[in-house]
Amino acid sequence: MTYLISCPGCGDRGVDDYRYGGSVLKRPGYNDDPELWDSYFYLRVNRAGMEKEWWYHRMGCKQWFIAERDSTTNQVHVTYWPGENK
Ligand SMILES: [Zn+2]
Repeated sequence: MTYLISCPGCGDRGVDDYRYGGSVLKRPGYNDDPELWDSYFYLRVNRAGMEKEWWYHRMGCKQWFIAERDSTTNQVHVTYWPGENK
């Protein structure tokens, strides 16, 4: 079964068109505690359920976008460009 992800610019494409970029996380500030940076880079929650994730359309428009995906079913519920409020 091929999973489809809808790029906000190109529409539905097979998951092989994309590159996963990890969860959307709040980036620490430049002068924040180094332990916050360690957590940002190395500690992942791996939550079961809805996740906001970065995806890159490597075989299409070559743009990064955000997908909200249920990690228990792999179903993507919505995709949008960074900065768009969904
Ligand atoms: Zn695209």
